[in-house]
Amino acid sequence: MPLNSVLIAGGGPAGLALAQYLKKNNVPFRIVEKANESRLQGYSVSLHFGIPYIEQALGPERMVGFEEKVSVNHTKDTGFATVTSDGEILIQSRGTPTIVGTGVRANRNRLRQALLDGLDLETGVEITGVDISGDKVLAKSNKGEIIADLVIGADGLNSAVRKSIMGDMVDELTVVTLSGSRDISAEQHEAFVKYSPTHVMMHGKKLPGEEGVPNIFYSVNDVSKDNKIFNIRWILSWDRTLIYKDIPESNAELHDLAHRMVSRFPDPFKSLVQETDPTTKLWLGKVCQYMPDPNWNGQGKVTLIGDALHAMTPYRGEGLNHAMIDVVRLGEQLVKAHRDEISIGVAVTAYEAEAIPRGQRAVKASYDSAYQLHHGFSWLFTRMTKLVGLALYYTGSIPFLQLFFPKTH
Ligand SMILES: Cc1cc2nc3c(=O)[nH]c(=O)nc-3n(C[C@H](O)[C@H](O)[C@H](O)COP(=O)(O)OP(=O)(O)OC[C@H]3O[C@@H](n4cnc5c(N)ncnc54)[C@H](O)[C@@H]3O)c2cc1C
Repeated sequence: MPLNSVLIAGGGPAGLALAQYLKKNNVPFRIVEKANESRLQGYSVSLHFGIPYIEQALGPERMVGFEEKVSVNHTKDTGFATVTSDGEILIQSRGTPTIVGTGVRANRNRLRQALLDGLDLETGVEITGVDISGDKVLAKSNKGEIIADLVIGADGLNSAVRKSIMGDMVDELTVVTLSGSRDISAEQHEAFVKYSPTHVMMHGKKLPGEEGVPNIFYSVNDVSKDNKIFNIRWILSWDRTLIYKDIPESNAELHDLAHRMVSRFPDPFKSLVQETDPTTKLWLGKVCQYMPDPNWNGQGKVTLIGDALHAMTPYRGEGLNHAMIDVVRLGEQLVKAHRDEISIGVAVTAYEAEAIPRGQRAVKASYDSAYQLHHGFSWLFTRMTKLVGLALYYTGSIPFLQLFFPKTH
């Protein structure tokens, strides 16, 4: 029996890309989104191993000029670097860091537009839970009940779809972020270009008596048409059980904390933060994760993709890339079910058999990166990273990088 009613709950990157995949393959679906306007997780995002999967969702024609269309600086010019607090480059890649090729630093809004193009997204519809006791799934929403053959929770970290079946099991880690966004001139941006044209992370130095280090991340979000104004975001992050344990609440006190923390970094990072307008709203973020549960059982009537299935820390820049793999792996199975080659239950089981262990690997690796980065590197580790970084720079890709940066997909 062909699939008559697939409901995608959540119009983030995962839900939208899946909708595109199903549309391209003539599988009927509805996609609902709780927000009336887009609320984006972060401002910009590194796309790398997920790009070929986006291409499978959108089709090759719509990928023409994709990089220029979505990139933060409207060009293919991208790169990433990690540097010590002395300004020494450890790893620098031409193209976004990846062991499988180069990528793009994407502006979230433009990526969203590319994924939304041509879709009928029903906004203002919040799914509050699912009932799988009958033959079909009953999805409850603020706009009434929706009956579907299959509900796909693409509703992010705090997935209501997942919670209604599994309960709430999101882990709040002890790594926290403090970030601000501001405009800078092209001349100010130029000081960062020696590291990367788009985004760079500087590792803080461990001070005597301290057990952890802060890091600062610089990322371009957007560039004005005349290339004179760069909108950027800076993110300070640390393990609050090791350093800067007392975190204030007011915006003025958060600015003060950011000033103190960044005083251990050199320019241009220091002045980037210290010269942020003191009235700018700063965001304090708690890094969270959700480890896919092997006991998940949506009875072949409910499944999960993206952060709803596997939310990971951002320290490997992989969450959205994995979401794109989910989209294609699930999409392939649903096309077979729609053609009546397999049942929906078999399709979902086949998808989950691949996605759950892959998600577990990714969540674990991103967790490890989060803590390694904030506990500080030993001298030996720093030297080895530098060697690996040089090899990466000159070869573009080295298989043994995986010894340090295990592949998760
Ligand atoms: C600071 C930061 C930096 C990051 N950097 C990178 C990076 O460089 N590379 C990378 O690959 N990943 C990165 N990530 C991870 C990436 O943002 C996520 O993996 C990605 O957004 C997941 O997409 P998603 O569609 O699954 O979930 P989301 O982006 O969370 O989208 C979920 C959507 O569902 C909607 N929704 C929620 N609940 C409901 C409901 N009950 N009913 C209906 N709709 C609902 C939400 O409004 C939202 O639109 C980063 C994350 C953060 C926080």
